[in-house]
Amino acid sequence: METYFIKTFGCQQNIADSERIASAYEARGFSPAPTMEAAHTIILNTCVIRERAEEKVYGLVRNIQAGLSGNKDARIVVTGCLIGAAAREPSGKMLKRITKRLPEVELLPLEDIGFEHIPKRAPGKSASIVISNGCNNYCAFCIVPFSRGKERSRPFAEIIEEAESAVREGKDEIVLLGQNVNSYGADFLMEKIREGEEYALHDGSRVKPVFVKHLNRHRVPTLFPHLLQAVARIKGVRLVSFLSANPWDFSSELIDVIADNKNIDRTLHLPVQAGSDRILKLMNRWYTRAEYLELVARIRKKIPEVSFTTDIIVGFPGETLEEFEMTCDLVRSVGFDRAYIAWYSPRPGTKATKEMEDTVSIEEKHRRQRELDGIVLRLAGRGHLVK
Ligand code: SF4
Repeated sequence: METYFIKTFGCQQNIADSERIASAYEARGFSPAPTMEAAHTIILNTCVIRERAEEKVYGLVRNIQAGLSGNKDARIVVTGCLIGAAAREPSGKMLKRITKRLPEVELLPLEDIGFEHIPKRAPGKSASIVISNGCNNYCAFCIVPFSRGKERSRPFAEIIEEAESAVREGKDEIVLLGQNVNSYGADFLMEKIREGEEYALHDGSRVKPVFVKHLNRHRVPTLFPHLLQAVARIKGVRLVSFLSANPWDFSSELIDVIADNKNIDRTLHLPVQAGSDRILKLMNRWYTRAEYLELVARIRKKIPEVSFTTDIIVGFPGETLEEFEMTCDLVRSVGFDRAYIAWYSPRPGTKATKEMEDTVSIEEKHRRQRELDGIVLRLAGRGHLVK
């Protein structure tokens, strides 16, 4: 029987995607191999968020093809963000470059996998459920809108059905995943929006389009608070968490839903990225430092037991020492439980790479990362993860 092995790089969404890839392969008659060495087909689910992650894929393919992994003859399938970014890059240069660097491998776009199979989940009590894919925000440093494309939300009923089926499987913790979970559903009916028009939601209630400051236009309100509440109220769900939520879509309605449902995780991941308004604007992040701090205060007032984790980039193009200090100061003000601190790495196609000079030296980026690290560590009284 044909066997497969999946090697996953990157984030929790990639891990969830790999669970769908596994079930799609098994539906085609493949069975899982215990190790990469034992597999007829090796599937590499890639990440391109940083250059280092991308290079790891090329290195692994070289090693497999050179026989270092012990099965030189295995078929190699490359999927995930690297393929998504290459397929969407309009000049075709990226696709040419990766085809050259990955000879004799099969390229599999994630779109070919779909959602029709129940994911093959890892053992344990937790089930990750992808609620949306892609992103429309185009933060200046981020390759995700290019690698995963425009934001597409999965149908509400399909997600609830998947959560119920996970509970039937014995899972009691649900993790809702998306690049911008709290804009879930905003893409529904987008093309039909007319100011003031009302829309019927899944439960029959009607909502009006809302004005969204950072988009400077009206759109269907995000349905995430409704979805989160519906999942939290499924019988047998002990804990619901979500990743990642962005500050600009964190509505009062969402805060109320979290406050009202005690089984929604009280640790919220709220990426801030920088503490200076000038850098936030250059990053194309749609909030100011004051707005972020005000949001944190508003959430704390409603949910006193809440704790926060965050993402931060140090050494963004043009970041001065004073601006870096403002990030340190913001970190001290919030007192994050944990911070995922990355130093800026230019990614192809992004605004920062195309239009900004990478002015901060690598040594200085590392120094800033270490310093900020130390601050987070001291305040939280424990370790952190560095991206
Ligand atoms: S919100 Fe910004 S950082 Fe997050 S995936 Fe979208 S573009 Fe990237």
